[in-house]
Amino acid sequence: MNTMPPPVDWQTRESLLLAPYAMHAADSTGRVHPEPPHPIRSPYQRDHDRIVHSSAFRRLAHKTQVFTGYLGDYHRSRLTHTLEVTGIARTLGRGLALNEDLVETLALAHDIGHPPLGHAGEDTLDELLAHEGGFNHNAQALRIMELLESRYPDFPGLNLSREILEAQAARVKGRPAAGIRPTAAPLLETQVVDAADSIAYDTHDADDAIELGLVTLDELLDLPLVAAAAERVTDRYGPLDGIDHRRAVIHELVDMQVADLVAESQAALKRLGIDCVATVRAQQNDLGHPRRIAMHSPQIASGKKDLESFLFRKVYRSERVMGVRLAAQEKLSRLFHWYCDHPDSIAPSYRERTPSLGLRRSVADYIAGMTDRYLEWDHDRRL
Ligand code: MG
Repeated sequence: MNTMPPPVDWQTRESLLLAPYAMHAADSTGRVHPEPPHPIRSPYQRDHDRIVHSSAFRRLAHKTQVFTGYLGDYHRSRLTHTLEVTGIARTLGRGLALNEDLVETLALAHDIGHPPLGHAGEDTLDELLAHEGGFNHNAQALRIMELLESRYPDFPGLNLSREILEAQAARVKGRPAAGIRPTAAPLLETQVVDAADSIAYDTHDADDAIELGLVTLDELLDLPLVAAAAERVTDRYGPLDGIDHRRAVIHELVDMQVADLVAESQAALKRLGIDCVATVRAQQNDLGHPRRIAMHSPQIASGKKDLESFLFRKVYRSERVMGVRLAAQEKLSRLFHWYCDHPDSIAPSYRERTPSLGLRRSVADYIAGMTDRYLEWDHDRRL
């Protein structure tokens, strides 16, 4: 006897599983270039696959998160950071009965605009383009989605659903998303991805920094958030030593933040009477600015702030990280000027856009697409 349940289409699946305040794909405002529906995949599943199949996404494997240059293989790349964010965001999304296809897509896409060398590369490109509107990784992600990835013969970019473009546009200052009031709060799916990004980097930057010898676990244990995680570890396992202790504290840190965000958000949804996407969008604070619902408790929020300022001082601005950063920035800058002097050497797809975008922007687009190791190799062969 066949006991397989009948297949369920995505509309039915979403209407059964998602909360009324989740973004249902059936209510999507669609794509800029209309396309026929897919027989199996929901619109956001297609967006998910388009991101994963993009070359910008693949290159995240060889792009720096925080630590530039060869400092060992332990620390996160942009790709592994992205996958950690995606896993955490999916948990948050499931905890709140949100649209997981949309959550995953937003998480997978959130860092595709980063140039090589992390924020060091971004700052250098921003200076080099000071008279051309500057460079920002969020704006670059949008350019990748709308223009730079050319995968389809009939339109430029990835032709993603407007909700994805809107979430990305909202991260770019001065660029309100098409059709969305600038005062509208982001979708809950966007809110949990932003929270997951913060949970992931606060925790794994601490872990990577210990591994690289920039800080010790003992120093971190002076921070209330890390101390609270360590206390929970001891309650559960008794005293642990060395690497076991550190790993358990790192897991607990993620878990604590996730549990806090879900519980606080559930309470806020109830308190504010959120029952549809329109009420999510309409949330405002006293000043009339968009207000987020997916927030941490004051205690965890202040613990995260302490951890972030500790990491800023001891890690992101440490002599060792800053030294490597300066050397890398110089290479990027020299390569940029070299391509401006040798435009025929720019890869054809970027060179083709020079007449419409200008030489400096096209060189920046080309360099921003490079991985850390390609930039290094290209610099060394050219200069
Ligand atoms: Mg990120």
